Amino acid sequence: MSAMIEIKNVSKWYGSFQVLTDCTTSVSKGDVVVVCGPSGSGKSTLIKTVNALEPFQKGDITVNGVSVGDAKTDLPKLRSKVGMVFQHFELFPHLSVTENLTLAQIKVLGRSTDEAKTRGLKMLDRVGLNAHKDKFPGQLSGGQQQRVAIARALSMDPNVMLFDEPTSALDPEMVGEVLDVMVQLAHEGMTMMCVTHEMGFAKKVSHRVIFMDQGKIIEDCKKEDFFGDPEARSPRAKDFLSKIL
Ligand code: ADP
Ligand code: MG
Repeated sequence: MSAMIEIKNVSKWYGSFQVLTDCTTSVSKGDVVVVCGPSGSGKSTLIKTVNALEPFQKGDITVNGVSVGDAKTDLPKLRSKVGMVFQHFELFPHLSVTENLTLAQIKVLGRSTDEAKTRGLKMLDRVGLNAHKDKFPGQLSGGQQQRVAIARALSMDPNVMLFDEPTSALDPEMVGEVLDVMVQLAHEGMTMMCVTHEMGFAKKVSHRVIFMDQGKIIEDCKKEDFFGDPEARSPRAKDFLSKIL
């Protein structure tokens, strides 16, 4: 299987504070990898290095064979193929749902308005929100806004989707509808790297689980091993799991 994301010996500092230490992992095409670990362990930072939202000082990352750290790389082009969904939905509040879905397609991919609309509304349908196409983000619930954010990312035809705690800012009753969309994506074969504490999701659809602590990848193993063989886990992973499971 070919690696869609290859992270090799990546280290990163904020000033003198080392936030990532020698992180190495890879995500194959079609793999769903869950990244978990305590708050402040570097999960968001690691995932943001993948689409160059955060620079890093050592190591190398390639996405679909393209080096993220290479000064010659066309980063807007690379980012357009890496969908990113954050904890806070980050839709444009002054634009309608349809405009949110089409803007980057038109500006970054150079699609016509019609083309972008067709694609955007298809993705909106996929997340079950066609009826809301003319609304503004503020008129939607948090769960609906997050589903629009996912549809917006999918409208760009990404090779890979990155999620950073997409459900942790949601009211509990809305978590399920967002996870359902992510489960469906996983089943359709999307390559996904998901920072989440939703271990039900991890158990259901992930292929691998990465556990981070203090900027290091402490565990990187098959889901079956992570959940099925607690005795083999590091003390820190065990402690973390005992708190969230
Ligand atoms: P996580 O997502 O696992 O909670 P983060 O990647 O957000 O962790 O942060 C890892 C560490 O880096 C934390 O100690 C955090 O305080 C620190 N950090 C994050 N962003 C910055 C920044 N822009 N400048 C300095 N330190 C930062
Ligand atoms: Mg985080």
